[in-house]
Amino acid sequence: MASIALSKRAARLARRGHPWLYKDDLRKSDLKAPAFSPGSIVRVHDDEGRDLGLAFASTRSKIALRLCGPWQGDLVPDLEEFLADRLRRAIELRIGMAGENGGVRLVHGESDLIPGLVVDRYADVLVVQATTALIDNALRLISRILGELLSVRMILARNDLAVRRLENLTEEVVLLAGEPVERVTIEEHGVEHIVRPFAGHKTGMYLDQKPARRRVQQLSTGARVLDLFSYQGGFSMAALSGGATSVHLVDQSRTALEIAKETAGQNGFAQPESIQGNVFDVIRDLRSTGQYYDLVILDPPAFCKSRREVEGGIRGYRDLNRGALRLLAPGGRLVTCSCSHHLKPEQFEDTIRQAALDLPFRVFVEERLGSGPDHPALLRLPETEYLKVRILRRWD
Ligand code: SAH
Repeated sequence: MASIALSKRAARLARRGHPWLYKDDLRKSDLKAPAFSPGSIVRVHDDEGRDLGLAFASTRSKIALRLCGPWQGDLVPDLEEFLADRLRRAIELRIGMAGENGGVRLVHGESDLIPGLVVDRYADVLVVQATTALIDNALRLISRILGELLSVRMILARNDLAVRRLENLTEEVVLLAGEPVERVTIEEHGVEHIVRPFAGHKTGMYLDQKPARRRVQQLSTGARVLDLFSYQGGFSMAALSGGATSVHLVDQSRTALEIAKETAGQNGFAQPESIQGNVFDVIRDLRSTGQYYDLVILDPPAFCKSRREVEGGIRGYRDLNRGALRLLAPGGRLVTCSCSHHLKPEQFEDTIRQAALDLPFRVFVEERLGSGPDHPALLRLPETEYLKVRILRRWD
């Protein structure tokens, strides 16, 4: 049977609950064990034989073992049995989180004990992403199991992800089941959003911002709203549906802004005003023309994509937040976000604190939000809590 006995040190790490063991955490002899063929499930125990559950083994990645939870008995299940169990339980967790026509993350990697797999559902379309060799190999099987558990029109693998290179996997987009669906409309909080599974960012939409979109909808009544880094206007649509008096979108992508217009039309909203340009410049221009807003949303792309980029990224966040805070009318709110995995929540708050240092008004932190319960964060893997959203209020 494929099983690995961990050294005392590695067993301690595993017991602490962090689900990754790096090559350096293991004994060299373990890495050479026959059980350690890349892309296999192994059973892990400590050197006294105490069970530590299952793990994905990899010789290609720096992360040698990815723990994937307990399994009854002392055998290793076959892959199909394992995946069927984990997928069923992941789907069960999300019951009631989105309507039939809604969008919801069904599988969130480590949190669902399937390291390297993401599955997003957009109405009857599924988009998956694989970032570990084992999951990549198993995509056809995963697609078949998902097809049995759910009734779907298409299953697409959006594997055009740079992180796949870490496991020697190619970047590709593969239709796994059904007919190609270029566009699907989903409904969220009474608003329709257009999702492009093949061409959209991530798997087609920023599903993780659902809780913040809800708050924006609630805070928009009678508000002049500015949506910075708007993409297809997810936040803008929420604002329009919540009764904003005006909405300005800013993004560098013309396509994204066109889809935002189309989405507004589809929902029967008044056309928002879009500004195609660099947010850093647009903030300056808006200030110089004396524009003020009651609600500003600032949701930039991740500026700290690696640990090395943290310092520069912090500068970017600070400048943007300072600029955005200065655009607030008295009583106005800023919904500020960071999706950088490498920027810790304390570092992000510190950054926005610095951004507000020399402002002639008080700034309250009214709310702290993150991704929704369909992107559950593991208490023991702080990296899974990557999305930080703070609602700040200007009060003179
Ligand atoms: N708020 C969006 C997601 C933002 S994604 C939502 O909730 O759906 C980041 C967006 O920032 C992308 O659409 C990208 O085109 C845009 N972008 C990145 N850098 C930019 C810049 N310097 N100026 C303007 N837009 C930028």
